[in-house]
Amino acid sequence: HPSLLYSSRKPSCGFGHINHIRAMASHIIGYPRIGPKRELKFALESFWDGKINAEELKRVAKELRISIWKQMADAGTKFIPSNTFSYYDQILDTTAMLGAVPPIYGWTGGEIGFDIYFSMARGNASVPAMEMTKWFDTNYHYIVPELGPDLKFSYASHKAVSEYKEAKELGFETVPVLVGPVSYLLLSKPAKGVQRSFSPLSLLEKIIPVYKEVLAELKAAGASWVQFDEPTLVLDLDSHQLKAFTDAYGQLEESLSGLSVIVETYFADVSPGAYKTLIALKTVSAVGFDLVRGDKTLELIQSFGFPSNKYLFAGVVDGRNIWANDLAASLKTLKALESIVGKEKLVVSTSCSLLHTAVDLVNETKLDSEIKSWLAFAAQKILEVNALSKALNGQKDEAFFSANAAAQASRKSSPRVNDEAVQKAAYALRGSDHRRATPVTSRLDSQQKKLNLPILPTTTTGSFPQTMDLRRIRREYKANKISKEEYVNAIKEEINKVVKLQEELDFDVLVHGEPERNDMVEYFGEQLKGFAFTVNGWVQSYGSRCVKPPIIYGDVSRPKPMTVFWSSTAQSMTARPMKGMLTGPVTILNWSFVRNDQPRFETCYQIALAMKKEVEDLEAAGIQVIQIDEAALREGLPLRKSEQAFYLDWAVHSFRITNCGVKDTTQVHTHMCYSNFNDIIHSIIDMDADVITIENSRSDEKLLSVFREGVKYGAGIGPGVYDIHSPRIPTTEEIADRIKKMLAVLEMNVLWVNPDCGLKTRKYSEVKPALTNMVAAAKLLRTEL
Ligand code: GLN
Ligand code: ZN
Repeated sequence: HPSLLYSSRKPSCGFGHINHIRAMASHIIGYPRIGPKRELKFALESFWDGKINAEELKRVAKELRISIWKQMADAGTKFIPSNTFSYYDQILDTTAMLGAVPPIYGWTGGEIGFDIYFSMARGNASVPAMEMTKWFDTNYHYIVPELGPDLKFSYASHKAVSEYKEAKELGFETVPVLVGPVSYLLLSKPAKGVQRSFSPLSLLEKIIPVYKEVLAELKAAGASWVQFDEPTLVLDLDSHQLKAFTDAYGQLEESLSGLSVIVETYFADVSPGAYKTLIALKTVSAVGFDLVRGDKTLELIQSFGFPSNKYLFAGVVDGRNIWANDLAASLKTLKALESIVGKEKLVVSTSCSLLHTAVDLVNETKLDSEIKSWLAFAAQKILEVNALSKALNGQKDEAFFSANAAAQASRKSSPRVNDEAVQKAAYALRGSDHRRATPVTSRLDSQQKKLNLPILPTTTTGSFPQTMDLRRIRREYKANKISKEEYVNAIKEEINKVVKLQEELDFDVLVHGEPERNDMVEYFGEQLKGFAFTVNGWVQSYGSRCVKPPIIYGDVSRPKPMTVFWSSTAQSMTARPMKGMLTGPVTILNWSFVRNDQPRFETCYQIALAMKKEVEDLEAAGIQVIQIDEAALREGLPLRKSEQAFYLDWAVHSFRITNCGVKDTTQVHTHMCYSNFNDIIHSIIDMDADVITIENSRSDEKLLSVFREGVKYGAGIGPGVYDIHSPRIPTTEEIADRIKKMLAVLEMNVLWVNPDCGLKTRKYSEVKPALTNMVAAAKLLRTEL
């Protein structure tokens, strides 16, 4: 039994009396919870389905925690985190800790259990889930706290303390990790019914007492260090927000005495203002910085200095990616820091929680050994952190370092990474513009002459429902269980079904339904050079949901056409225009693990050039409408405003590269999965697509306000009028109503009628009536206008 293994050990790493570190130490900010083979996912889903009980779920969770602590201890990690495990999300855990449960969940006090916790996370038959949103610029999503001025906080989840005690009983001395009070509030939103202008930050004094109780219990249980995660420190903060940090850690002074406190920042460098605030926090003994994404961090420390009585936790091992660390380069950075803060005060750490990388390379059976030697997942990153701290202590593991150096060298020179022709072509794109020669309004005229579409033309976003049968066919073909001929025939049959259905429903611009695709990025990645795929490289996206991003390791090129066969087959089945369907370069980039040996834009340009060839081949094959999805363009937006313009510039440029060469009569569509694009509307216009379809599921207001404010949008636009995220079937009147609202701010001849996003996750029994009503609504309005 694993727990026996360590029970004979004294709480090992013994921080000494007043928490002294004697030699260069190592620290991990946080670790993936999902498990090396998604054990937690399967346990959670079985529990939700009623197939296992709470005890069994807790047993799986405990086993995962033990194996993580053991891994870190075995590697020699000095600061091992606890309370970084979560059944769903660490912000939701904090909401539970503070007893900040919105009233609709019917909590009546006492320790919050699975019932209340999971109903906040997922909703249940009678209440909806709380809102979820992206965690900074990662693909992780957290549950947004809903706070109001009258909310009473109370200590309602003892999870942090029980995890600390659990580890201690097993012989692991850990650093309990808490979401810092200021970041918690800055990441919250006003509850329903509370004024929009209400600032959750005003609740600071009300949540501090709960933090005090938690700290008192942790101290009583024997904790000597505690970590507060305050990642909001890397955002653009005003002086009022910065002052909240001084206030919070000042108010905690008494509770923190006798404890050593780490404040962790991550995902970018902090501003000079935030830096000064941070290093001036009297009650804080250590500050953690991201030295990977935070490319100005080193400079900040060099120019502002670092207080001699504090520890500096140096995040040199990338928690956001899967690449092996360049140990020699990290050593250099660490030495530079050592010369400022001194050997005793420097701790080697990860750039952020390892939550955002894959779990363990050991389980990658299908990657070849060369590519594998270039990679490090969370388990391997623990070893890297410790190897670095030992090296700085004069105990360099020469074998480990030379293997690493060899891998770095092979990655630099490998012909699988380097394709000179691709590099030259991509390099040549810099500084140029790539625009279609004719302005969009006259392009639309030329296109209309050929396409002859009615006003309010109807279309869909691309995918049609994916049945079990369809998934089975793809799986069997991949596993060589059915022949290519059988596969092609089955997919053709499916496309034919989808085409006939759209003709019956009387759609104007058709799609083939994407039955050959598992995933909109993987499908292209598998056919492009420079991409690798893992079998277990899962990363938590939210709750039990994980994604398995492709790895872009080399120069990207397209050996042969990827979609032309399917698109022209589909076009041959109908006289109506059939959309070619591609994923855009920015979305492919943002949903992959991207190489770190060249700027992101360079990789994006390479993908753009590959997709450009595909666009041109589709056009040559007679496809007149080509949709290039940029579902994730907004996701790559840097956290700091000062960096956003540069990103938007190359991202939008990459999109234009793909289609700047087509004829005026070829209609280029794009699709985006969000409606909050008010702040980037000018970049979207600059993409210069002929038609854009966008998500608009929850309300029309956000979107409409852009146009009400007078933004001129000359291209075609299709704000989703049917919410595909819900099984609900909208009525004709309801859809007609939404279209009318848009007609109040948009010109009739630019408006398209389409659903929010792809129909892949819906059932035909939902899609057929909904699309029937949608087309009926468009027709109704055509007669009225
Ligand atoms: N064309 C894709 C589909 O319809 C777009 C999916 C997306 O935007 N996420 O499935
Ligand atoms: Zn979408």
